[in-house]
Amino acid sequence: MAVTKIASDTLDFILESCKASHPHEFGALLEAEGDTITHVIYLPGTDSTIRSVSIRTWMMPNMPHAGSVHSHPSGAVHPSEQDLVFFRSNSVNIIVGKPYSRDSWKAFDNNGDLMQLEVTEYEFEDSAFDKFKDDLLFGFDDEFDEMFAQELADELNGEFNDEFNDEFNDEFNDEFNNEVCTELDDEFNNE
Ligand code: ZN
Repeated sequence: MAVTKIASDTLDFILESCKASHPHEFGALLEAEGDTITHVIYLPGTDSTIRSVSIRTWMMPNMPHAGSVHSHPSGAVHPSEQDLVFFRSNSVNIIVGKPYSRDSWKAFDNNGDLMQLEVTEYEFEDSAFDKFKDDLLFGFDDEFDEMFAQELADELNGEFNDEFNDEFNDEFNDEFNNEVCTELDDEFNNE
């Protein structure tokens, strides 16, 4: 299926990632669900401190993907000669220029020609926490209890995040969160 859309949440994530990488280049692969780009695949070991980050990313062999994205810290939102060569293997290629806003990106096809990519709202699958929250809400009958359960869920979510963000450095935090997510998933799957 031809890719014609990008999920607005995914676009925002891309813009934030480009911003965070500045003044260095951000580069990643894109994954699609049907006709919509939904996921960013950031390859481990991609060194964003060198100028050719996108080239290294795109040269990964046998990595199934729908497209590519990379940033131009210079602000120019058009492909370089090198970009055009690498665009050939992807049907969708996004370039984001400084200041990395909703107005400073463009999509190109494998010929390097401008293409329209519609920004759309996309319903992502529930995270482990959402599932937990739904289970919690399911146990309550009337409206008041539901509000209470929602509040409790929000509070737990806030505490959960605050605690880990405060106590652990980013690397450890990520590992730990993954572990918790896996454990939660296992729990749900065993039920
Ligand atoms: Zn480029």
